Amino acid sequence: MGDDDTSKKCWPLENCQLHVPPLSELADVLRQGLESHFSHVQVEVVDCPDLSLSPFHLAAPGLGGEPCLVDLGGVPYLVPTAQRDRTYDLADLPGLMNVKDGTILMIGAGAGPWQHLNTNCEMMTNLSLTLEEGKNNIVNGTRLATVDPAGQRMLHVVPAEQTRCSLLNNLLISRGLPNTPVLRIRCQKRTGPNNFVTCMRNTVAQHYGDKSVGIGGVFMLENGQARLHIMPDFSPCPLQTDADVNNWLHFYNATGPLINLSVFISHDPGLDLRVEHTHCFSVHGEGGHYHEDVSPETVVYEGYFTPAERLFRIDRPSETHHVGRD
Ligand SMILES: [Zn+2]
Repeated sequence: MGDDDTSKKCWPLENCQLHVPPLSELADVLRQGLESHFSHVQVEVVDCPDLSLSPFHLAAPGLGGEPCLVDLGGVPYLVPTAQRDRTYDLADLPGLMNVKDGTILMIGAGAGPWQHLNTNCEMMTNLSLTLEEGKNNIVNGTRLATVDPAGQRMLHVVPAEQTRCSLLNNLLISRGLPNTPVLRIRCQKRTGPNNFVTCMRNTVAQHYGDKSVGIGGVFMLENGQARLHIMPDFSPCPLQTDADVNNWLHFYNATGPLINLSVFISHDPGLDLRVEHTHCFSVHGEGGHYHEDVSPETVVYEGYFTPAERLFRIDRPSETHHVGRD
């Protein structure tokens, strides 16, 4: 925080209310929808357990308290050419969102601060800030994933004060409270073609139409393998197409248990959103951007999710496109 290369608190911000269905209704909708994609589906409303414990390792105990989604920056700052000056300090977010005290938990998927490791990287954002007497008490469980030109992958923890990210970030932000009602979703044996998050997003979109329902949370891929990507360092040549992006990215299969930080929204109300984004990390050194599991027969997903009340769109790119959004 306070580094010279991070512009402070001047990013443009738009925000809107989201549709928040009753949790029991959302549970019914998701259960019915997921049953056509998985053999075994459980969806129930529970009090949020302590997610700071193993196996989830979040930076605060729960997902409760004024949950909202943040879509910060965007893919147009990465492709065709990376705009390295788009570096944000997540410690500025509470101020931007007019939060003046208490704890803020941020979890989600973004691009890491390239200055920290001197390379572009994936970010598994897992950060809690508690404002006390004008200064931030930081719990930082964020991980960064890198791949070097030889294909060597690494998962990094960060120092507590490393609260920056670059280019883009999709976040669930809450007060980090435990014991508030959330959805517990458990699915086994995938029978359809879509990934777990896309199944949930399509289900919610089909039911709620043009009402925007935003959801975030954490889920374990307990058993099986997932196809992930890690961004290498910035491409020296412009990435013009999805094929260019996919050739540049490093894809690999990671093995569960994988801890996934996930946000999605059923309908973009015209704010040029990334409608779903999920990154994962593990305690065995693997992590990256989640595409799908590659073990439909054996896969088990279990997670906790909350609908969000508001959406904050920060530093929306003025020139946009749809390359590289998978
Ligand atoms: Zn990603």
